[in-house]
Amino acid sequence: FMIVASPCALVLSTMPPLLSAIANAGRHGVLVKSAVVLEKLSTVTHVAFDKTGTLTEGSPRLVPIRPVPDAAVDDAELLALAAAAENPSEHPLARAIVAAARDAGLTLQPVEDFGSTPGHGVRARIGEDLVEVGNPTLLPAVREIAHEMVDDLEQTGHTAVVVRTDSTVVGVLGLIDQARHAAADTVAALTTLTGARPLLLTGDNPQAAAALAAPLGITEIRAGLLPEDKVSAVRELEADGAKVMLVGDGVNDAPAMAAATVGVAMGRAGSDLALDTADAVITRDDLSTIPAVVALARRARRLVIANLVIAATFITVLVAWDLFGHLPLPLGVAGHEGSTIIVGLNGLR
Ligand code: ADP
Ligand code: MG
Repeated sequence: FMIVASPCALVLSTMPPLLSAIANAGRHGVLVKSAVVLEKLSTVTHVAFDKTGTLTEGSPRLVPIRPVPDAAVDDAELLALAAAAENPSEHPLARAIVAAARDAGLTLQPVEDFGSTPGHGVRARIGEDLVEVGNPTLLPAVREIAHEMVDDLEQTGHTAVVVRTDSTVVGVLGLIDQARHAAADTVAALTTLTGARPLLLTGDNPQAAAALAAPLGITEIRAGLLPEDKVSAVRELEADGAKVMLVGDGVNDAPAMAAATVGVAMGRAGSDLALDTADAVITRDDLSTIPAVVALARRARRLVIANLVIAATFITVLVAWDLFGHLPLPLGVAGHEGSTIIVGLNGLR
């Protein structure tokens, strides 16, 4: 009785499928941080994507450089100023601006008192001047003319950032990024898998967000979000019973990742905070691994349930047989060990 009633098979029902799935995901470029995360992955009903660096390549091109006409800086000076202030930042827009300045052969001045605010932009002291580069909707006192320049750029799907020195707008930079090649297929696969279209949560302007999302088949777009707005968007969905997976790369996505059922970070493009907060990391930034890992997690869950049923059935039958009939000891041992081996092997599939 002690042999057939001991729950070895039950104990072995869950870990082999979950650990095998974690190993399998790892081989295919997804680092799942724990077995609990894998279980949560199997329950995901909605997927929310960040834009810059997640759905896009994260290597935007700096296209137009537009100094404000009477600001006494030319294109090169404006770019040098913005690049110097952005130099310490790890944001994809910052890297693009710095790269453009280096390509143009400009030397970047050293900066002091650098600071960056997620979703807003950066500020730094260059010599005597306080230089700010960032989101046009959040830097106040953007003058009429700069407004028009920003609108022009945003109409054409650009991300516009304004450059100010000592609260005077000196110019606007336009950046454009392209979608990752696997983005459209990933959106389609996730729609089929979860039965709900993925949504886009971005800090960028609505036009740039729409220009990117439409060709990918994303219809629900929330733009102009600060990090805390991304958290509210996730909480709102979860309050309606959704289990949200948030995929992002930036410091600005980390709070929403923590609020979501599962947070997923882009391994290469991702900032340290995003990587640390995330429950899973896509190590090669290959978006197509997202639907694959959800499907894998669901399969692991099905195996766990099958194993629990197998183990419980063996134990019940053997115990009943022993109590109410006559179970020969060798058969009891074979049944007990046999069921343990069956669930172990089944889990390893
Ligand atoms: P996303 O949610 O698409 O990843 P972010 O929240 O990182 O976008 O950025 C939102 C907006 O904030 C950008 O479109 C830009 O206007 C501004 N911004 C954020 N960081 C920077 C930066 N380092 N330099 C310039 N602008 C920035
Ligand atoms: Mg981002």
